[in-house]
Amino acid sequence: MKITRISVFQKNLPLKDPYYLSGGRLKFEVLDATLVKVETDVGLVGWGEGTPWGHIYVPAHGPGIRAGLATFAPRLTGLDPRKVELVERVMDVTLPGHLYAKQPVDMACWDILGQSCRMPIADMLGGKRDNGTRAASSVSSGDPAEMLATIQSYRDRGYTAHSAKVGGSDLDMDIARIRHLEKNRMPDEIILYDVNRAWTRREASIVMNAVSEFGVTFEQPGETLDDIAQIRGVTTSPISVDESLVTLQDAARIARDGIADVFGIKLNRVGGLTKARRMRDIALAHGIQIFVMATGGSVLADTEAAHLAQTIPDAFIQACWSCQDMLTVDIAPGSGPRTVDGVITIDDTPGLGAMPDENLLGDPVAIYEA
Ligand code: MG
Repeated sequence: MKITRISVFQKNLPLKDPYYLSGGRLKFEVLDATLVKVETDVGLVGWGEGTPWGHIYVPAHGPGIRAGLATFAPRLTGLDPRKVELVERVMDVTLPGHLYAKQPVDMACWDILGQSCRMPIADMLGGKRDNGTRAASSVSSGDPAEMLATIQSYRDRGYTAHSAKVGGSDLDMDIARIRHLEKNRMPDEIILYDVNRAWTRREASIVMNAVSEFGVTFEQPGETLDDIAQIRGVTTSPISVDESLVTLQDAARIARDGIADVFGIKLNRVGGLTKARRMRDIALAHGIQIFVMATGGSVLADTEAAHLAQTIPDAFIQACWSCQDMLTVDIAPGSGPRTVDGVITIDDTPGLGAMPDENLLGDPVAIYEA
């Protein structure tokens, strides 16, 4: 089997509500999605999506994905898409780094691999649990009552996991946010406090120690792994590493040095399923919990994350994020798993099991063919 054509589409995905990242330093209203269609000489077609969360969240942006594709996609025609690690190697040799640009192609190759074996990607990754994975909401930073109201709106739809954004220069406000949400937390509900790198080491130690009685998990409480390692030494709350978990070397260091209790694996940031599954295995070997996410995007991106999440044993999977509920548009009507009662479940559809309605994507912005 050979890749014969790679078509690239750009699609704006407007958010239902403007989104403020931790510290209020970033406001989003629309996501820039890149959809990739990989065609083969046997008629199988795979789809991938890369949708960074804006352009100043992490070093990734929509135009960068499309520029990366222009660099390496011409080298991919003629390769067998089922050999995902050979495709990975060609991409890595042709363009070192820029992992986020490679993820949509990797995803489309896994889609084709699954279809060719008549198995869902989750089974190709080792085998899926029968039960689905709880989906986490993403709760924009705001005043404590507003944040609780947002959580309540997700509870009404069955959500039992939430990623609440905290972090800013007003440390008393952060402490008030966490206390208010924890005092109103439902039994068996997970609330992860996501700092998105907003705190200095000193700020992290002040807030985390002020609320240590709750034992809640803080995600990315500092800018770098060095910061988080230092924060780790002066606090007792569990820590998740998200933005600083980019490469397999990062994963190895976090596990070896005991820097975190949770891996926040975002598939776009780490370069796709081929690389993410190795991180999953490092986490499982070290008793580290996992939160799997797309960085954002449509049901396609959610579905990719849900496949990996459903390969992780119940005792180690925290949740997976579902961005589809935050968008005003659905580019894949009737296709792919939806969040039902706060749970996203992969069925036995071969491959990814989600594809966009091409009529909703417009014309390709680039085509690479043999
Ligand atoms: Mg995060």
